[in-house]
Amino acid sequence: MQTADIKTKAIVVRAVPYKESDMLVTLVGVDMGKLTATARGCLKRGAKLRYAAEPFNFGDYVLSGRNGRYVITECSQIESFHAITDDLDSYYAGCMVLDALGKLSDEPQPQLMLSALRTLGALESGQEDADRIVTKFLLELLSLNGNQLDFAHCNVCKCNIDGDAFFRDADGIVCEHCKGLNFIRIDAISRAYLAGGEQPDRRLRGEANAILAQLIYEMLGVRISTRYFTEQI
Ligand SMILES: [Zn+2]
Repeated sequence: MQTADIKTKAIVVRAVPYKESDMLVTLVGVDMGKLTATARGCLKRGAKLRYAAEPFNFGDYVLSGRNGRYVITECSQIESFHAITDDLDSYYAGCMVLDALGKLSDEPQPQLMLSALRTLGALESGQEDADRIVTKFLLELLSLNGNQLDFAHCNVCKCNIDGDAFFRDADGIVCEHCKGLNFIRIDAISRAYLAGGEQPDRRLRGEANAILAQLIYEMLGVRISTRYFTEQI
C-alpha cells in the first residue's frame, strides 16, 4: 500500500524523546483529532523541524505514513505561543489546556480546538489572570460537550440558588432541597464565582477550577491531571 501525505492544521499537546534523536509527538489536528507522529532527528543540533516537536506549537503539518504511524515531514508555524512559558501560572494553565484538549480529541473536536487556541492566546497576552482564563475554558469545554451548567438556578425545581449548590449525575446543578443522597457539594463561594460573579481571591478561583475539573470527570470521564491543580491547592 502506498503512503500518502496528510496535511493538517495541528497543535503539539505532548512530546517525548524517542530513540537517539527523535521525538514522539502527540498532535491534535483541527479535522483529525489526536494522532501520534515521529519527528525524526529533531534532537540533533540545528535540526530544521525542532520547533515542530515543541509543545504549544501550532502549524500547518505535513505527515507521511498510514495506519496511525506517521512521520512529520514539513511544518510551517502559524503560532508558537512561546510567551506562555515566560510566566509559571500561564505555563501550568497552558499545559492543562493541552492536556484537556488531547484527552478529549479521540474524535475531531474543531470547536474545542478553537476554544483551546483562543485560551492559549489569552494566556500568552497576560491581560487577565490565568485562573480566570482557565475557568472560562473549562466551562466552555463542558458546554461544547453538551454539558452546559447553570450555577445560578436549580435544574430540578428552577429556584435561584443562594448558597451551596450540588451536582447530581442525573440532574446537573441542583439546590439544597433537590440534592438527594448522592451529590458533589459546590460551596457557596465557588458557586457564586462559577455563576459569573467576581472572585478577588486567587486561591479560591483555583479551588473553583478544581471543582470544575471534578465535574468534568463525572460527566465526561476524563481526568485532567496536571500540575495546574496540584500547584494551586
Ligand atoms: Zn431545587
